[in-house]
Amino acid sequence: MDHRNASLGPNTTAIHAGEGPDPATGASAPPLHMSSTFVTDQVAGFSAHDLRDDAGFLYTRWGNPTVALLERKIAALEGTEDCLCLASGMAAATAIFLTFLSAGDHAVVSDVSYAGVAELARDTLPRLGIAVTLVDMSDLDAVAAAIRPETKLVHTETPVNPIGRLTDLAAVARLAHDAGALLSCDATFASPLGQDSRALGVDLIMHSVTKYIGGHGDAVGGAVAGSAELVAKLRAEAAIHHGGILSPFNAWLIARGMATLPLRMQAHQRNAIRIAEWLETRPSVTRVIHPGLASHPQAELARRQMTNTSGMISFQVGDAARGRALAQGFIDRLEIIHYAVSLGHHRSLIFWMETDSLMDSSFRLDGAARESYRAFAGDGVFRLSVGLEDAEDLIADLARVL
Ligand SMILES: *Cc1c(COP(=O)(O)O)cnc(C)c1O
Repeated sequence: MDHRNASLGPNTTAIHAGEGPDPATGASAPPLHMSSTFVTDQVAGFSAHDLRDDAGFLYTRWGNPTVALLERKIAALEGTEDCLCLASGMAAATAIFLTFLSAGDHAVVSDVSYAGVAELARDTLPRLGIAVTLVDMSDLDAVAAAIRPETKLVHTETPVNPIGRLTDLAAVARLAHDAGALLSCDATFASPLGQDSRALGVDLIMHSVTKYIGGHGDAVGGAVAGSAELVAKLRAEAAIHHGGILSPFNAWLIARGMATLPLRMQAHQRNAIRIAEWLETRPSVTRVIHPGLASHPQAELARRQMTNTSGMISFQVGDAARGRALAQGFIDRLEIIHYAVSLGHHRSLIFWMETDSLMDSSFRLDGAARESYRAFAGDGVFRLSVGLEDAEDLIADLARVL
């Protein structure tokens, strides 16, 4: 079932894809298969290379029925042939890098990204003999100039954490594919509803399913969706050999949350636009970034590429000292919104991210790259993950401080 290609809508897909009444009991809701091993009637090998497409379940590191349910749901919503779920979003990023890159290869990676991915690309990949060029993915000339004959992978993130800058996926996909490289995209902020990544040319669609897909802040997980061929490579390498698999219990929780993802994304978007427009009227707020605002620097690209602008807002309040003071104000005075990292949950979350400290720790940019970051983030941003509470209550909560 795939709402991108077939007649079914996204809500029906999110609810029914990958599941059906349990043949053994008739249970309407999917069972939770907490079993590490599966009794088999086949005399077969015990190697990732022996895995056949038609084989049943053997051992949960190879595959598990509850994890497979979540994988089919995500693949159906992304319109891809297959999907692999892993223990975290970082396990998903590591899976992409270590499956498709080897010593001597070159990768082009977005110069701004989720901090863990930024540090993996800057520290771990070069240690393994993989050359990395960091580029501002909103600058297509810079992307084209960074690609070399030995480039195997282009990795981007859109909208990018924490500043909400966008990548023109169709244009970057053309550049990557012309050079024979794969394009991977961390689509965590967008969710599968925010853009049709596959149709735009992304080969490997990555999510931290901890965020919107799970949606309830109770389970950590990751996913990579793509063609059957690419996902089979990922499964053999990252799941069976590196072993960072998702627990069936987490898969069950995340699949339950995912059934309401399309509805939740509509509500996240509606709340975020309402709150972003309110923030733009506050004298204490100097800049608001959300892809659904007419003031977004790439509003035209957002309209062309995004099918839901999601619930992430970043906003500035002046210099870093002012940001820190207001962060303390949020910690002391918010009654509904939690001052905490993470995002995409039904509960609203806010966190202060100071530019100089992110530059020292994760991004380490200077010159034009640093200026491009500052054009979106100034001295720092509050990253606000707008949840599913009533917008007026969230506005009243923010107004205690702003
Ligand atoms: C949270 C996040 C990750 C990492 O995911 P975990 O599930 O925390 O490992 C990667 N990318 C983005 C954009 C994220 O927001």
